[in-house]
Amino acid sequence: MHELSLVESILQIVDEYAAKEGFARVISLRLSCGKLSSVVPQALSFAFEVQSKGTRAEGAALELEILPAAIHCLACEKDVEIDRFEAQCPVCKGYDVLLVGGTEELKLIELDVE
Ligand SMILES: [Zn+2]
Repeated sequence: MHELSLVESILQIVDEYAAKEGFARVISLRLSCGKLSSVVPQALSFAFEVQSKGTRAEGAALELEILPAAIHCLACEKDVEIDRFEAQCPVCKGYDVLLVGGTEELKLIELDVE
């Protein structure tokens, strides 16, 4: 499961912060990832629950922000939000499209500690 290694790197970042800032416990974490990234939210929270046991992040609330996926069409110059990537512009049906959002990897964006 891909999520195990993602959670592991998040927990490592938490540890590095803890060494620097000297906090004892994480209350909540906010993560973000693109809609088209391979992260499965349920698998992520499960992996987090298991792997955070015995760490500063045990019991912390996990919030996952899903960044929308979007394409930019070179033909009609529009940015269009999409659900899944199809190499065609939904507006003008052109094929000159660039994927401009949604593939962002998992990132820690906020950490609430005490
Ligand atoms: Zn277009």
